[in-house]
Amino acid sequence: MKTIVCKNYEEMSIKGAEIFAEQIKKKPDSVLGLATGSTPEGMYAKLAEKCAAGDISFKNIKTVNLDEYYPIAPENGQSYRYFMNKNLFDKVDIDKNNTNVPDGTAPDPDVESKRYDALIESLGGIDLQVLGIGRNGHIGFNEPDSKLISGTHVVELTPNTIAANSRFFASAGDVPKKALTMGIGSIFKSRKIIIMANGAEKKDAVGRMLENAIDTSCPATLLNLHEDVTLICTEDAI
Ligand code: PGA
Repeated sequence: MKTIVCKNYEEMSIKGAEIFAEQIKKKPDSVLGLATGSTPEGMYAKLAEKCAAGDISFKNIKTVNLDEYYPIAPENGQSYRYFMNKNLFDKVDIDKNNTNVPDGTAPDPDVESKRYDALIESLGGIDLQVLGIGRNGHIGFNEPDSKLISGTHVVELTPNTIAANSRFFASAGDVPKKALTMGIGSIFKSRKIIIMANGAEKKDAVGRMLENAIDTSCPATLLNLHEDVTLICTEDAI
């Protein structure tokens, strides 16, 4: 795993945006794997600036997001579809028809999971995937467990994740208890991965990942098996 240590959140966001911009310039019809949460927000703002400046274009870009709460409506202000529209898609020249987030309104989550993996495959796989890291070492919503699931699937969120995400909701009781997430195998098919970590609260999880031992109780450790992963983190997260 390559590591890029940045002074602060701003520098981390700039670095992440540079890697995405490079990918878009090299392959203007790239399939980009995107993530939500506070970590990539700054990077999306930098990408929107680059697009407004005419430096990059999303016209032929396709995107697939890692996860979505389940159930949740796309117009719900806490949905990951809403987050993506607000933070990136509404600010760049992307065709919304080319943006994909797991469907939080799908009647059957197992059918939706299969559809999502088939969709990723039909797009030719993900060229560049960005990941955040949970305080508990989760990637996407692949929570610590004795076994990890390969394909996209529905998952029960852990109390730890519900507590961490409750800052975006009126109360912890309002956080959906389930989510749809790409599995470890879906993520691993990405040709290139960047994982971003900001702040001291990520230090334990980052430390475990960098121990270079595979442990399903810290799903991010699996990334040590992928041949093209770059960690971009702030200096207090390492
Ligand atoms: P955060 O979440 O970016 O809001 O810290 C990351 C994650 O839980 O994967």
